[in-house]
Amino acid sequence: MSFVLHGLAVSPGISIGRASLISHATLEVAQYQVKERDVEAELARFDAALGAVRSELDTLKIEAGASLGAPAELSAFVDLHAMILTDPLLAEVPRQLIRERRCNAEWALVQQLEQITAQFDEIEDAYLRERKQDIVQVVERVLRVLLGHRRKLSRRGRDEELIIVAHDLSPADTIQFKKLKIGGFVTDVGGATSHTAIVARSLAIPAVVGLHHARSLIQEDELLIVDGTRGVLIVAPDQRVLEEFRLRKAELELERSKLQRLKTAHAVTLDGESIDLSVNIELPQDIDKVREVDADGVGLFRTEFLFMNRGDSPSEDEQFEAYRSVVKALPGKPVTIRSLDLGADKVTRGMRAAARIETNPALGMRAIRYCLAEPQLFLVQLRAILRASHYGRVRLLVPMLAHAHEIEQTLVMLSLAKTQLAEAKVKFDERIEVGGMIEIPAAALALGPFLKRLDFLSIGTNDLIQYTLAIDRTDESVAYLYDPLHPAVLRLIAMTIAAGRRAGLPVAVCGEMAGDPSLTRLLLGMGLTQFSMHPAQLLEIKQQVMKSDYSLLRGRVARLLRQDDPARLLGMLLKLNAA
Ligand code: PEP
Ligand code: MG
Repeated sequence: MSFVLHGLAVSPGISIGRASLISHATLEVAQYQVKERDVEAELARFDAALGAVRSELDTLKIEAGASLGAPAELSAFVDLHAMILTDPLLAEVPRQLIRERRCNAEWALVQQLEQITAQFDEIEDAYLRERKQDIVQVVERVLRVLLGHRRKLSRRGRDEELIIVAHDLSPADTIQFKKLKIGGFVTDVGGATSHTAIVARSLAIPAVVGLHHARSLIQEDELLIVDGTRGVLIVAPDQRVLEEFRLRKAELELERSKLQRLKTAHAVTLDGESIDLSVNIELPQDIDKVREVDADGVGLFRTEFLFMNRGDSPSEDEQFEAYRSVVKALPGKPVTIRSLDLGADKVTRGMRAAARIETNPALGMRAIRYCLAEPQLFLVQLRAILRASHYGRVRLLVPMLAHAHEIEQTLVMLSLAKTQLAEAKVKFDERIEVGGMIEIPAAALALGPFLKRLDFLSIGTNDLIQYTLAIDRTDESVAYLYDPLHPAVLRLIAMTIAAGRRAGLPVAVCGEMAGDPSLTRLLLGMGLTQFSMHPAQLLEIKQQVMKSDYSLLRGRVARLLRQDDPARLLGMLLKLNAA
């Protein structure tokens, strides 16, 4: 039966494909005893399920090998799951339970899983304790086959994509999609500027979050349409609806391909103001997409994603190689590397395992606070960034600064890293530029120390909105309050841009507002000349820039900023965009 669910549109476009359910919990299974004469058949059913999952993992490995990016981590992950599958604890003990206690295969497997996970909970070592999740995932795969919901990864129709359906996805889960060919995803929870949503936009795959019950209502392999522009999910569409969406999808693709003509054009307004359009990236492999749109540089490299989905932290050399590869891929262009912004919704496996559960993680030990509390980790990253600075124009960007002493401490750490490298006779850019993110209202309201001590500013509107309006950006229940057009938010942004201009300090916006074409003119009118966004958004923003008159907008936006009434403000914005 066809039905429609509504959620938050977080990444535009249309995807038509088959549901692939992702679950983090053990599936509920029936528990019954098989008849004595059926025991052999039950054992054969269990063995067949193991065999099916084995070939499923083989297929996954082949698909990963064929897809772009660095498949090494994914292959290792598939290998680990294949190893778990053959471990006697999973392959043999459930057989004993089937034979001796005549349990049905699913029940035997779940009982054994419970035994194993209880033992894992006792383990002190955080990394090993984390492996429990891998075992759960393998068991879930086997259960899915036993329950008849086999994932038909290789049997999808030619034009059908794989759509991930999950209750929740962490940014660490989502970043793994960069290595797979995923058509789109939908989740029950999540906010529009959560990092899960941000990664979806960076992948340019349609996504809808905050659907509440999608995970429990949708079945494996069911046909789905994800409309990531309108925040709609259509389950089991009929032929007529399907045709309509296929048409719409083709139209969207045509529009996108038309934008390609702007690739080599300069982003200059009608009255000749040159605008810098840079990109945000999460991993070095994103650089291909940066080249595709011929961006002016990298305005934000979210380095914390290098630390996810692994048991340890990347070494100084590994980080250096990652940063250098980006710098070398963009000769002559600035690459803004942000120091670690871990915490809140972006956590590593180690942090998750060791976590004391914070009541308000977004207000807790995050970003620069975490780095200053873990000086060794911070120094390793600073040295790696400095080393990469020898190979091009690297800028260091520091997130979540609010206090003058945090700026001072950061600069002390940077000079310590420089001294260490100089002593080891390692080359780096002595005059590396250091910038601060303006994403806490206190920073925007008291910019003095930033203007005095730093070389540039970058406004993180995602967090600035979260902290100004006191709403958790990952919580779909307050997503309706997440409002980039709130007069308080607009004034903080405008004040920061104006103060930067007065002090002669470059100011960029690297939050999601920079990639929203309906806000381009507003930001231009505030005097913004540097935008950083996902590569997929860049050409559309360029189109807006080229249609705009910078000096005309300056006056009109000054009037808009004096407006307190939300409806009037919106009306003024619509007029601004229509002109
Ligand atoms: C922001 O807060 O706007 C930003 C760009 O950083 P992040 O989304 O990674 O917190
Ligand atoms: Mg931020």
